Amino acid sequence: MKYRWTSTAARATQIMLTVTVTVTGVGLSGCASWLPGRTEPTNSAPAPITLPPAVVPASTASPAVGAAPVPVPAAPPQASPPPSSLPSFAQVIKDARKVDGPLIAWQKDEKVWLELGPEQWGTPYLLSPKLRTGIGEGWFIGGLMSSGASGVQVVEFVRVYNQVRLVARNQVAVAAPGSAQARAVDVALSPSLLSSSTVASQPHPERKSVLVEANALFLTDMLAIAPSLQRAFRQSYNLDSRHTAVTGVRATPQALVIETQNHYYTPTLAFPQPGATSAPTLPSYLPDARSLFFGLHFSLAPLPKTPMAKRKADPRVGHFVQTVFDFSDDLSSSERQRYVSRWRLEPKEPGSALSEPVQPITYWIDRNVPLKYRATVEAGILEWNKAFERIGFKNAIVVKQQSDDASFDTLDIGVASVRWMVNPEPQFSGYGPHHRDPRTGEILDADIAIEAQSIRGTRAIAAQIVLPGLTALGVHPVSDVTPGFGSRLFGHDHSLCWHAQQSAEQLAYAVDVLEARGELDPDSPEVEEFVQARLKDLTMHEVGHTLGLRHNFRASTLYSEAQLSSPSFTRERGSSGSVMDYNAINLTSPGKPKVAPFQTTLGPYDYWAIEYAYKPLEAANERLELQAIAARSHEIGLGFATDEDVFLGLDPEAAMGDLGNDPLAFAAKRLAIARDVFKRQENRALPNDRDYALLRRSLNFALNDVGRSVSLLVRQMAGVRTLRDYPGSGRDPLTPVPASTSRQALALVTQTVFSPTGLSVSPALARRLAPDFQDRAEISGITTDYPVAQRLTELQRATLAVLMSDAMAVRILDGQGKQDAKLPRFTVAELYAQLDQAVWSDLSVKGDVPDLRQALQREYINRMAELLLRPASMSRAPARAVVREQALSLQKRLTQVHKSASLPPALRAHWQDCLDTLSQALSAKLPRAGV
Ligand SMILES: [Zn+2]
Repeated sequence: MKYRWTSTAARATQIMLTVTVTVTGVGLSGCASWLPGRTEPTNSAPAPITLPPAVVPASTASPAVGAAPVPVPAAPPQASPPPSSLPSFAQVIKDARKVDGPLIAWQKDEKVWLELGPEQWGTPYLLSPKLRTGIGEGWFIGGLMSSGASGVQVVEFVRVYNQVRLVARNQVAVAAPGSAQARAVDVALSPSLLSSSTVASQPHPERKSVLVEANALFLTDMLAIAPSLQRAFRQSYNLDSRHTAVTGVRATPQALVIETQNHYYTPTLAFPQPGATSAPTLPSYLPDARSLFFGLHFSLAPLPKTPMAKRKADPRVGHFVQTVFDFSDDLSSSERQRYVSRWRLEPKEPGSALSEPVQPITYWIDRNVPLKYRATVEAGILEWNKAFERIGFKNAIVVKQQSDDASFDTLDIGVASVRWMVNPEPQFSGYGPHHRDPRTGEILDADIAIEAQSIRGTRAIAAQIVLPGLTALGVHPVSDVTPGFGSRLFGHDHSLCWHAQQSAEQLAYAVDVLEARGELDPDSPEVEEFVQARLKDLTMHEVGHTLGLRHNFRASTLYSEAQLSSPSFTRERGSSGSVMDYNAINLTSPGKPKVAPFQTTLGPYDYWAIEYAYKPLEAANERLELQAIAARSHEIGLGFATDEDVFLGLDPEAAMGDLGNDPLAFAAKRLAIARDVFKRQENRALPNDRDYALLRRSLNFALNDVGRSVSLLVRQMAGVRTLRDYPGSGRDPLTPVPASTSRQALALVTQTVFSPTGLSVSPALARRLAPDFQDRAEISGITTDYPVAQRLTELQRATLAVLMSDAMAVRILDGQGKQDAKLPRFTVAELYAQLDQAVWSDLSVKGDVPDLRQALQREYINRMAELLLRPASMSRAPARAVVREQALSLQKRLTQVHKSASLPPALRAHWQDCLDTLSQALSAKLPRAGV
């Protein structure tokens, strides 16, 4: 199924399952490091022609048994001299334009040649591809930095007789140069062939270089776009070589840049078959869906001559890392070695308290960023200088504005940038990837992308992010990402970023809440201030990624409600311990003073993470000094928890969209605000020039926020605080939350989601929840009716699914094993007793039961029956006993109430139905294996 970003208000309110994601800081995910045991970059000795092991002549490939070992690969044979039939060097380049960069190219009309001499063969280059132009949807968007399988590669030119191969080196493993292990590494792994061409001329008389036709090297589907298109749309797109051409060849100080325009085509279009599970779709924004162009941008750059000093990563601090299997040392605890991804930053005056860097980290604001946002983007970037000043760097980061007539592209390698995007179907609102030197983790390039729709959409932004309740225990719709250029084709990538969507949705909700309260005019300059504040927050976050920082989802728990309610405190310190969290917008209760809604500046964690990665340290002391920095992880404000802590962990503090050090109070406040929004829609007077879709959007925002609050509360139940401390901090790394917290969280959930007096909509309001009729005409999936009851039922269903899951029971039972015996415990029996009370309170009340309650009871019965009939493999005996006992008790009460003479007939039928299901489940015979 293809999920679509929807851009307008009505789409936001009517399509609930739309999912978008951001890929951030992807860099060279999954890659490792340069192989020092192999050919090193050199400018002196003429490099012999090298052959990949696969083409080593058989006579030298393997020794006879008992013979002396033969080096692998064998000594490379000399290449054949170019056939005499080939034209001379001068003849080929006659009238051609020379492009003189780190590599020399020649261009004449549509033809491009690379001049490759003895110094180029076997020399490693970084190939950094970008998608220069796209098709406005999926991951096929213009300005995107490549990642994953289509990402940056270390390549070399390999000559096999008169064939020239562009080969991607295998970067997975290393071993000490010249060692036996290095030989083992060489035979264990294979390089990959990206493309090939042929020698096109006789050697240059002096330089001894030959010309190689570059068209054949670059006009291929090297980046595997065709299979990405095929996967995304299930159409048979392929590269159409006849209409694919080189469109530009340039030299920059760092690289040779080659731009191509690739045409992809399918002669036929597939259409969905009735009943098919994976239906083909069509790209939506093409004049003719059979044909589409991509502009590709390749930077071919020498690797830094002197590799940057590597810095060992530490699990207590959150950096993107370069992981490599290093087989040099048999005694190390693991072959996996991890190095921090960071820019090369060296002080001009080592030892002085404050020094400018030899080379600052320069971010270019692309000329496509709208004028009115440039100052905010600049401020967001420069904010990071505060963290660098703390470790002795003055002006570590510099911002430059690309002029309208600049001759370079900010996609060129070495030109870090912030770029604007305007896609009809954005996949993200912000994105902060980087390309790095796999030998050392040195970041060499980063292109931050910001989608315009997220900025424009103060009132029109999609309210589509949250699937209520589902994220609570690790259920997350990441797998629904549409594949494309920027996504990994193979393996997984855990560096997806939702910050921009979340903050855009939070912004839209806040504006809506304040407007509903009458505290904000939606057309006032104040809204513009909100937009700019969010943009600064977003820019700081994405720049943080491009400086090498991962998410820190613990940071938002730093400040107290009193601090968060203070206008001056929030203005000066922001609302969280880090810009790398997905902080909830700081929304006040009705009538309270206005506070800074977004993160205004770096938090203490950001300073610390920059210190670990960038503080200049003497090599001799580095290990100890890094240990000393990381050992501060237990200090207030320096706690770190990241994506896998949210998705794989139990930690209630590692959550997205929370704020403050009291999660229960935060959730309670947000639930109260949402209830208030519900109430205000009942009598909301709309001006004559606004349509009713506004009401629908408001309710949807509020419901999403309720879902988010409930998922935060569920995380508290039987949660385990997972700290990354090392011994010496005085804290245990795995600490269960107190039983009282679990209890309070459960009470809040049941009161909000299951209570008969929770969220409701009057018939009068239900009659006004009309759609945006224009959007409904153009966008499938927008219903005329807005099913409030169904949405509430979905919320209840999702919540029950989590609370009555085996995973929750296991979590509670395991939590007990970590709790001191003398402390009170939160038990499975308690959970089920509370649920029973919340869901079945109607059994003791006279009168009818609303439909919504009946739906909840039916859902409960279904889940109960499932637990009784199909216990999952992970279910535990104590939990199963509790479920059975609870079911028997309910069966008794249902039997009794059913006897009452005064029941309305429909209610009697409902309870009879519940009773039947439960009784059948309880009396089911045990299944026997093999029967
Ligand atoms: Zn992020």
